[in-house]
Amino acid sequence: MTLPRIAPGLADLPDRVDVLVVGVGVTGAGVALDAASRGLSVLAVDAHDLAFGTSRWSSKLVHGGLRYLANGQLGVAHESAVERGILMEVTAPHLTHALPSVIPLAASVTRTQGTLAHAGLWAGDLLRRSARTSSTTLPAPRRLTATEVNRLAPGLRTDGLRGALLGWDGQLEDDARLVVTIARTATQHGAQVRTRARVVSMNADLEGDAPGVRW
Ligand SMILES: Cc1cc2nc3c(=O)[nH]c(=O)nc-3n(C[C@H](O)[C@H](O)[C@H](O)COP(=O)(O)OP(=O)(O)OC[C@H]3O[C@@H](n4cnc5c(N)ncnc54)[C@H](O)[C@@H]3O)c2cc1C
Repeated sequence: MTLPRIAPGLADLPDRVDVLVVGVGVTGAGVALDAASRGLSVLAVDAHDLAFGTSRWSSKLVHGGLRYLANGQLGVAHESAVERGILMEVTAPHLTHALPSVIPLAASVTRTQGTLAHAGLWAGDLLRRSARTSSTTLPAPRRLTATEVNRLAPGLRTDGLRGALLGWDGQLEDDARLVVTIARTATQHGAQVRTRARVVSMNADLEGDAPGVRW
């Protein structure tokens, strides 16, 4: 009997594969898809289930790299923005959406703080544009009048409110569904995915006589 490509347990495992992926969270699923789509034979195993680990407990944000920019890590910031765009526009537009955030310019926020926040949003938008992500996917930030803020966030205190800043980032509908979708796509490229298959030890010494895995 041929097992389906996603199956529990260790029955009928292939003797040899080009790539063994241990752990099918978002990293493992992505590695499996990348390798399988390049024509490599892939076995991806998880001790529990797909997305059993942190990949189903994230904040579901798809950051565009602003935090890296703040640390001066330009390359990583740009790469994050590019990957965000790919996820939102190519890989999983059905599992992502734009998430608005409103920064109120309340009486307690000084003009300097407001200007800094505005500069941060502007830098984030520069990253979006440098990654060629459409403003339809992630709108450009803008200033809101006090009347617009009232409409969007009626619970905010209005005394001394000078308006607000509106910014956008990406958000996943469901992080576990993303992992499952990527893993299933990997299987369509020929990867075998096994759940309830714990790797106890591995010998990854490719020069050695018997590279292998203990389950
Ligand atoms: C509270 C929180 C919020 C976060 N928010 C965000 C966010 O908003 N945006 C963002 O991009 N990132 C966020 N992250 C980070 C993100 O969730 C992680 O970077 C990501 O989930 C890591 O994925 P992973 O596949 O490497 O690991 P995991 O998802 O932990 O997957 C590891 C898998 O390996 C399996 N495994 C372990 N040992 C074995 C073994 N011996 N044999 C077989 N399988 C094994 C486990 O069962 C598990 O399924 C957040 C993380 C946390 C904790």
